[in-house]
Amino acid sequence: MDVEEFRTRGKEMVDYICQYVSNLGSYRVTPDLEPGYLKDLIPSEAPQEAEQWDDIMEDVEKKIMPGVTHWQHPRFHAYFPSGNSFPSILADMLSDAIGCIGFSWAASPACTELETIVMDWLGKAIGLPDDFITSIKGSKGGGVIQTSASECVLVCMLAARNQAIQHLKKTNPQAEDSEFLPKLVCYCSKEAHSCVEKAAKILLVQIRILEPDENGSLRRDILLNAMEKDAANGLFPFFVSAILGSTSSCSFDNLQEIGPVCRAQPCTWLHVDAAYAGNAFICPELKVYLQGVEYIDSFNINPNKWLLTNYDCSCLWVKCRMKLTSALVVDPLYLQHANSDEAIDYRHWGIPLSRRFRSLKLWFVIRKYGLSGLQKYIRNHIKLAKHFEDLVRKDHRFEVVNDVRLALVCFRLAAPDVVNQTLLATINASGKMHMIPSMVKDKYIIRFCVTAENATQEDVEHAWRIISEHASELLTKKSV
Ligand code: PLP
Repeated sequence: MDVEEFRTRGKEMVDYICQYVSNLGSYRVTPDLEPGYLKDLIPSEAPQEAEQWDDIMEDVEKKIMPGVTHWQHPRFHAYFPSGNSFPSILADMLSDAIGCIGFSWAASPACTELETIVMDWLGKAIGLPDDFITSIKGSKGGGVIQTSASECVLVCMLAARNQAIQHLKKTNPQAEDSEFLPKLVCYCSKEAHSCVEKAAKILLVQIRILEPDENGSLRRDILLNAMEKDAANGLFPFFVSAILGSTSSCSFDNLQEIGPVCRAQPCTWLHVDAAYAGNAFICPELKVYLQGVEYIDSFNINPNKWLLTNYDCSCLWVKCRMKLTSALVVDPLYLQHANSDEAIDYRHWGIPLSRRFRSLKLWFVIRKYGLSGLQKYIRNHIKLAKHFEDLVRKDHRFEVVNDVRLALVCFRLAAPDVVNQTLLATINASGKMHMIPSMVKDKYIIRFCVTAENATQEDVEHAWRIISEHASELLTKKSV
């Protein structure tokens, strides 16, 4: 493809995308297919010769699109939002065209420096303490964009593991690092995302998954008791991953209580996973959920969830960048450069060497919407979730089971789990809307998350009509 063909096909692709986005509401939200559908439609061998562009696009329309789950559909209410917006798409297009691999400052100065600046913008907008902002005088911390929240948790646990081993080595300098591993224990609540458990598995440390209170919040005594019990058994509490905005019910751990518990330990790193909820803290009235932030060592949010930025864009801030990088630095000659001493090399802040120019899309989004536009977007979602909550509460067949603080409503029919399972299965099978289940307070619940960028009250009411009609049908059948 030469530049002229790219110009033509690029414009056609933008037209295709515009048509897709404009017609989204008319599609089934989820495909009606069986696993393996594509293998009968696409040859099992790669083509030897070049194919025509039109043939490729025809296959996109006929074979790929029917198998797509439409995450940007106005009636997609599953998971959390998959961040998406036109400025972000365009910025990613430019990033792809620049095609740099910005692992060090020298590998692409703009890629590195824009990341530092945009992470400072966002960190300040969220209300993180000055220690986390690179450009503030005296700060030893800073921000970095990772691929996923799972990776943010993993690298922080790794840094904490390193810190704990150095601490334990002071009294046992001859021991190999690996000899300390069986002693190390990390903690999170049952509400924490499974990526914490996965990180512990990768790093060969023990994990205690603790019981939150009746509001899904990890509290002081539960954590303290667990840590004391472990310490009494000769173990070493080295890491706590607190959750602000849990996946199943958007619950919040009590940072003000667990922060001092961590501080009182000899060497415990406190991380906060706010992958979804943290984006909302750009709104002044929601910063109340950050109370206790002064105790934390690291913090992550996913703008690729709830800040109109396309995957991948997971933002991690650390209070001490040396603690993170010292766990990850390897420095072969071929990656060094003349400005290594004064410049940031983000290759030391994460696992992969190669890094995309991800700050570009965050920069475009923040500039094109402005913080006020992003706040408006978040507030609209929260307002719509409250409206949905009101609709559920007015129908006495249903109950709301979470404290609706952001844009996630957890609800269920006041009936056995199996009835709720059938309700959700029939709604999802209809293709009219999509939601997922979870367990809250040991009950099967249905999660309704407001996700579409321009979601409206009519969208939420439409969704509620679908749910309500399916419930009526199900309950009538049951009573016959
Ligand atoms: N943490 C929370 C609170 C989440 O909700 C999720 C995913 O939904 C994750 C972590 C994992 O995110 P990622 O896919 O970026 O690893």
